[in-house]
Amino acid sequence: MSDCLFCKIDRGDVPAEKVYEDDRVFAIKDINPQAPVHLLIIPKKHFSTVLEIQKEDHELIGSIYSIANRLAKNNGLDQTGFRVVVNCGAEAGQSVFHIHYHLLGGRSFKWPPG
Ligand code: AMP
Ligand code: ZN
Repeated sequence: MSDCLFCKIDRGDVPAEKVYEDDRVFAIKDINPQAPVHLLIIPKKHFSTVLEIQKEDHELIGSIYSIANRLAKNNGLDQTGFRVVVNCGAEAGQSVFHIHYHLLGGRSFKWPPG
């Protein structure tokens, strides 16, 4: 996707602070952090929203949770708690239409979310 922000970051066309990368997934620091730790875990395959995930993608999507666990532990969040959040669509507040998993931690969160 030539005009997609996260595809551009994957290609190196837009700079970002990468904290993890393998052949299928990368993670970056969010440019506008909402918590002391705010990372975005992003599959390199372009899905506009979670509605596009198919059965053939289950292993890829599952691997994102292993990466979230690893990044949470690296940041000490396994001791305190953290959130893994995916926004889907306008009312959920999705602003970048290439799926990404927010990993948020380092402070207390309220429930329900606003
Ligand atoms: P969402 O609103 O769930 O689609 O999340 C999009 C996230 O991408 C927001 O938290 C933004 O702060 C973040 N973001 C937007 N542009 C960049 C960028 N160039 N580098 C890193 N994070 C970004
Ligand atoms: Zn994309």
